[in-house]
Amino acid sequence: MNQDIFVIIEHLRGQVADISYVMLAAAHELAQNTGGKVEAVLLGQNVQGLAGNLAADQVLSVEHPALADFTSDAYIKAVAGLTVEHQPRAVLFGHTSVGMDVASGLSAHLGLPLVGSVRYFESGGKFVSQICGGKIMAEGELPAPTALITLVPGGYKPEQGQSAQPPQVTQVAAPALDGLRVTLKQYIEPEAGDVDIAKEPLLIAVGRGIQTQDNISLADDLAQALGGVVCASRPVVDQGWLPTSRLVGKSGKAVKPKVYLAIGISGAPEHAEAITGSNVIVAINTDAAAPIFNIAKYGTITDLFDLVPVLTDKVREAKGG
Ligand SMILES: Cc1cc2nc3c(=O)[nH]c(=O)nc-3n(C[C@H](O)[C@H](O)[C@H](O)COP(=O)(O)OP(=O)(O)OC[C@H]3O[C@@H](n4cnc5c(N)ncnc54)[C@H](O)[C@@H]3O)c2cc1C
Repeated sequence: MNQDIFVIIEHLRGQVADISYVMLAAAHELAQNTGGKVEAVLLGQNVQGLAGNLAADQVLSVEHPALADFTSDAYIKAVAGLTVEHQPRAVLFGHTSVGMDVASGLSAHLGLPLVGSVRYFESGGKFVSQICGGKIMAEGELPAPTALITLVPGGYKPEQGQSAQPPQVTQVAAPALDGLRVTLKQYIEPEAGDVDIAKEPLLIAVGRGIQTQDNISLADDLAQALGGVVCASRPVVDQGWLPTSRLVGKSGKAVKPKVYLAIGISGAPEHAEAITGSNVIVAINTDAAAPIFNIAKYGTITDLFDLVPVLTDKVREAKGG
């Protein structure tokens, strides 16, 4: 076993996902404690161009037609080959549908310990993991021999994992990737027609705290007054109160507005991971312990039904309407 930290780079259609940069930042912190190097693992085909700004000591590039599109089957085999050969101290995956799929399969396949929902590393190399939807922060020692880790966003900024200096890229032969049982048939694009919340600069997001479909009008009014767009957490969309095109999170869209106003949203990891690219997050929540306050720049522990109508009136007044 060596002391290096592997980071499995997540990318889709020619774009490196923000969580990859967050993992690289975390990996550097961990590597300082283990004394190893940060090695970015880039799987795909013709993906070398994605290596340019990865803040890694080295990029291990594995190219193969079976890796051209993500499938857990091919990824598990490829990462298993590298892990067995190099025996790194830890392998970091995003706590995303892709990362969880691969990390859990790999853990079962190689019999390696898996630590989920890690948010950051402390000096001394301990991990801090957010459990119970972010309500509890658990601290622990990195398990041996190789710790598989899924990382949630929030502990590091994507910019910390980016570098202006291109890293050294090493081509690594792919292991045998035959007999795969999973193949990608097609991408299903979301229906066009609605606004694209990923491109909106001001989002008014409502969560389960809004209680009923009728109350969505409170958010609509505020959005109209401010010139923003309403979006939602999953419970609101699951109830059919807003269309899927407005869903923010792991199963919806990642957003990067200038301002993200979270109203009655707890900030569960599956939601939080998709909003950390926002310039400013503002939270309204009655629960002071809600994890949304960990990532919000401004927050108020207030009943939304008291605050939102007043806020709307104040904005209208200020705009002379
Ligand atoms: C595989 C998977 C994928 C998922 N994908 C997504 C996803 O894409 N997007 C997503 O959002 N979730 C997703 N989830 C669900 C996620 O885990 C959470 O359950 C969800 O985000 C919680 O939504 P919420 O914050 O609106 O509700 P809750 O967690 O119930 O939070 C409601 C919040 O409202 C506050 N509140 C209540 N009343 C008031 C009031 N009067 N005034 C102010 N605050 C109030 C409460 O204090 C609480 O913090 C996914 C889960 C899984 C397992």
